[in-house]
Amino acid sequence: MIKKYYLLSPGPTPIPEKVLSAAAEPIIHHRTAEFSKIFMEVTEGLKYVFQTKEDVYILASSGTGAMETAVINTLSPGDKVITLNGGKFGERWGNICRAFGLDTKEIIVPWGEDYPPEKLAEDLKQNPGVKAVFATLSETSTGAIFDIKGFGEVVSKTEAILVVDGISGLGATPCQMDEWKIDVLVTGSQKSFMIPPGLAYIAFSPKGWKMVETSKLPKFYYDIKKYRKNLEKQTTPWTPAVSLIIQQGKALDLIKSIGLENLLKHHAILGEATRAGVKAIGLELLAKKPGNILTAIKTPAGVDGNKLVKTMQNKYMAYISNAQDPHKGEFFRIAHLGYMGGFDITTALTALEMTLLDLGYNQFQPGASVAAAEKILREGWE
Ligand SMILES: *Cc1c(COP(=O)(O)O)cnc(C)c1O
Repeated sequence: MIKKYYLLSPGPTPIPEKVLSAAAEPIIHHRTAEFSKIFMEVTEGLKYVFQTKEDVYILASSGTGAMETAVINTLSPGDKVITLNGGKFGERWGNICRAFGLDTKEIIVPWGEDYPPEKLAEDLKQNPGVKAVFATLSETSTGAIFDIKGFGEVVSKTEAILVVDGISGLGATPCQMDEWKIDVLVTGSQKSFMIPPGLAYIAFSPKGWKMVETSKLPKFYYDIKKYRKNLEKQTTPWTPAVSLIIQQGKALDLIKSIGLENLLKHHAILGEATRAGVKAIGLELLAKKPGNILTAIKTPAGVDGNKLVKTMQNKYMAYISNAQDPHKGEFFRIAHLGYMGGFDITTALTALEMTLLDLGYNQFQPGASVAAAEKILREGWE
């Protein structure tokens, strides 16, 4: 068999052909009108996906760079913060805050469980003086989504700002920065934004900017005020990742032509099809509130989860993702975000069924998951 490579992981994600070929164009200089024009168009396009009137800043880093940027530009040493840890990425907020000497109250939510806004209201009441709440839109380690809109309602009534990691969710699940009262929103390029890894994006609300004005944590490369000053001149403080920005322009053209609303609907159909598929062969989901970005599926009893992922990847070249530490092997993740189509889902399900049969799990009718997914895809196809 020719072993064709199928990228089905929640980042990096597949990239449209037009976006790929843009990277092969000769490089242009960044201090030129030609680049500034592209740069400003990309900034505008990002505002559309962020659903904000505020400017969106482009950093040459992976998503974590934007998370760090959010922390160091809004807070001062010793400030009290709440971080919501519902998985690997929520945990990162706590790690960053502690690294910068913040008084960090970490709320640990068991992987896959929910944390409703009412609980946040309680936790804020019990922790007076909190300057910022750090949350995750789509917890990519578990597939769960959190009620950011509800968090916005709670946090906006306090002195604190709401900082949201939208790294896998933004562009795949609803998230309206202004409407939902998000004060700092960050994301990265290699998830729903349909380009390779290497760029991160961040925007601040007026309340967020007020915090920027008083923030005393040390910063240099990620000093957002430098970015703001340079954006007025239609440029960046440091050499931008020119090719990636050009690629983002092409991907945003595609996103705009589909329309954000349709794109979210598309992800909802892929998510539903995946969930229906795995349930049809007797598997269980991890998340209580699964999002449409990726689906985390519990490894069935009697199957070695690490072997399952290795077989999917090495034998069938279907690059789904294992669970992350400390839950490796307990569940696995099939992504459906960014530039993925309906047949990426049926491919993933076929490879999953064949793998399960290889590993001795056979309490299902072969093809049952694909049939269930097919029904959803066909009904939703436009
Ligand atoms: C991928 C991801 C990150 C980490 O981003 P990097 O690009 O690896 O730095 C953080 N948060 C979430 C929710 C993610 O999905």
